[in-house]
Amino acid sequence: MFALDRQAGRLDGRWLPASAAQLLWERIVRDDPEVSPLLSPAGVARAAAQSWRRLHDFQMPFAALDDDLSSETAAFARWCREYRRLLEERDWTDGALAQLRVHALAAAPGLEMVGFDRLTPLQETLLQKWAAAGLEVRLARPPAVAGSCWRTQCLDPAAEIDAAARWAAERLDGERARRVAIVVPELARRRDEVRRIIERVVVPETGLSGGPAPEAQAFELAAARPLAQQPVVAAALDLLDAFVRPPDLPALSRLLRNPFVAGADEEGAARARLDARLRRYESPGLGLMAFEQLALERGCPLLAGTLAAARAAMSAWLEKDIPSHCSTSISILLAALGWPGSSPDSKEHQAEQRWRSLVVELGACDEFAGLISRAEAAGLLREMAGRVLFEPQELRAPLLVIDPETCAGMRFDALWVCSLDAAHWPPLAAPDPFLPRLAQLSQRVPRASAEIAAQDAKATLERLLASAGQVVLSVAEIEDDAPLLPSPLLDGIAVLAAPPRWPEPRLAAVSYTGRPELEALADGGLPPITADEAQRGGARLLELQAACPFRAQAELRLGARALEEPGVGVDAAERGDLIHQALAVLWQELGDQQTLKALDPSNVVVAVRRAVATALTGARRSADDLMRRLLDLEADWLEARVLEMVEVDRARTPFVVEEVEAPRKARIGALTLDLRLDRVDRLADGSLAVIDYKTGANAEIKAWLDERPKLPQMPAYVQALGPGQVGAVAFARMRSGDTGYVGVARAAEAFPGLKVPGTRGWPRDYDSWQQLLAAWQRRLEALAAEFAAGDARLAPDPPRACEYCHLGALCRIAETSAAKPGEEAADE
Ligand code: SF4
Repeated sequence: MFALDRQAGRLDGRWLPASAAQLLWERIVRDDPEVSPLLSPAGVARAAAQSWRRLHDFQMPFAALDDDLSSETAAFARWCREYRRLLEERDWTDGALAQLRVHALAAAPGLEMVGFDRLTPLQETLLQKWAAAGLEVRLARPPAVAGSCWRTQCLDPAAEIDAAARWAAERLDGERARRVAIVVPELARRRDEVRRIIERVVVPETGLSGGPAPEAQAFELAAARPLAQQPVVAAALDLLDAFVRPPDLPALSRLLRNPFVAGADEEGAARARLDARLRRYESPGLGLMAFEQLALERGCPLLAGTLAAARAAMSAWLEKDIPSHCSTSISILLAALGWPGSSPDSKEHQAEQRWRSLVVELGACDEFAGLISRAEAAGLLREMAGRVLFEPQELRAPLLVIDPETCAGMRFDALWVCSLDAAHWPPLAAPDPFLPRLAQLSQRVPRASAEIAAQDAKATLERLLASAGQVVLSVAEIEDDAPLLPSPLLDGIAVLAAPPRWPEPRLAAVSYTGRPELEALADGGLPPITADEAQRGGARLLELQAACPFRAQAELRLGARALEEPGVGVDAAERGDLIHQALAVLWQELGDQQTLKALDPSNVVVAVRRAVATALTGARRSADDLMRRLLDLEADWLEARVLEMVEVDRARTPFVVEEVEAPRKARIGALTLDLRLDRVDRLADGSLAVIDYKTGANAEIKAWLDERPKLPQMPAYVQALGPGQVGAVAFARMRSGDTGYVGVARAAEAFPGLKVPGTRGWPRDYDSWQQLLAAWQRRLEALAAEFAAGDARLAPDPPRACEYCHLGALCRIAETSAAKPGEEAADE
């Protein structure tokens, strides 16, 4: 209407778009010296812009801001003064002010308002003004539908949506002309969960395909989500980020998996392989040029060409430029990358069009933003796309899923309203943090107080009850394990014990009962290993075979490894390697306990520091600034743990360090395993002590004692050295506050502090050291024989073995147990 007035010459001034207004608020908040640097200016500015709009909608006088003593309102008053000054100085009008200025003639000859639960004070004033000016103004209130109403109870929120979907399907079965709706409060937040549950019922084939049916028009979900979350736009934002700042490995990995980049279909497999390689071998500092070269060498020529074109596009984009130029550069960059691909579907096409208009909006911000960097331009677009709500237009479907506010003014044949429990209905009070409390109460701003929230909720419920011939109100009994009570607003409404449900059984049940007669054959084996494979194993082979034969065969023989997750900092495995290296360097230098004892404490610290520095040399060479700082922290941690360990070693009986990180071969059954022993000490009685460093929480003796030992490495090390030579095996546990040795020894004097088989306090049934060694040998040979025979049964103890295993999709252990007929029937 403001635009009509301006075209007709009734108003002057310039329109300030919402995205530009947001920029102004952001600049005002950022320039305010009293704003804490810990606050995000963008977030605060967004809240301030909403409060500005509310201030006008509810006609609160500016003077009320100055009367309030809270620091939030005082800050908001300062920002409002500056915002008003800028608007007046440049003759801009934003959405809040335009409402005050539009002329009655813009609404001529009249106006009908539909779908309003309540008018704001400003809307009421406008309507009165226009009515007084002779306009025909009508506030449409659709007639109330008389009908039946019940309430019902469901187990939890998911069961509630499922029941609603089945009830709606029952109403629509054979009666597609009916209009049925399910009302879900906070639908925008629960959108994906709600869509999934309803699809399972009304589009059951999604249960087989595992994803949404793109062409399904059985229901319409009226809950727009931010444009930034539309896949095609999220992909564009990701691509922009990868080019406007140095990309890290996760960014390059996403670029490889981006389906909207040119050549994604043709080179999909090659790009996936390159992604796996990147995660495993490349350093975090791999730049775009090196990435392009890698793409060329690794079977992705289309990607390499696209990256080269994108680089050329970037070279024409100045480091700092005005938004209109940035907007052009963004369009050129995305075009060079082939975004959005060759065949976007209808929804992607609509989202793409909205994105393009957003890029144009950014280009109109020259006057508000000044020169901005490439990263700032990308950040602004991300922010704008996060604010714009977008829902692709779908065909009108007979079942509508909607939130209580949006369905104001609508009429249905049947309606189901969810989540009418006391915790959600009425909602909690949520007053505006920037506006004076008293003014909010006097103007009845929604949710300004618990009382207002309760009155509004009551009015909304009455409107819902009057909007359909049949209404079911539902309440979940529990949510996140907490019991829920029905809203007091439901008092007096009759209870419907079992709402009519669509009789169609679940697709899974139909498939199961219609299954053909099958013979069962559990084929848990691969071919036996070859002579070559018998020579290619390490300690991990035994560990995997003990936990899960399938995993051992899949990982070690079929190469089914997990993709690495590129991350920042030192992960647990790297930390373990570093501490191994530091201790190896230290003991290579010291040689024995006598030398250690001869050093005074300050020289011990110097030696430990030197060892830690040597261990970190390789990591520091390729580290960037952030990583260097993280490595400094790591050095402190390593130094502290090594010093603790050295103190423990100082207190032991005399020993000489014979080997550190020593490679050894162990012959176990048909296998020859390559092992690396962390450390071997020669003890005072002439026997050897095998020591394994551990930084994790699993350094317990019981890990060696089960029939299928959790950590069979130590028994294997004993085999490698020759059981007759070994007098003790121990974990050197290095954890803050818990550093020391745990293990077993042939005799208490050999290694004080370790357990001795056959003595008091020993937990298991081993009468002697010899008996323990014999049991270890037997178990190792059994595991080696299983592996050699190709045994690939699933884990004998899934709760323990599967928790951290990545192969669930390959071994299908979940499906194996789910397919047991008894459980399927119980599920039904
Ligand atoms: S998920 Fe469990 S059963 Fe499957 S491979 Fe991993 S450990 Fe074995």
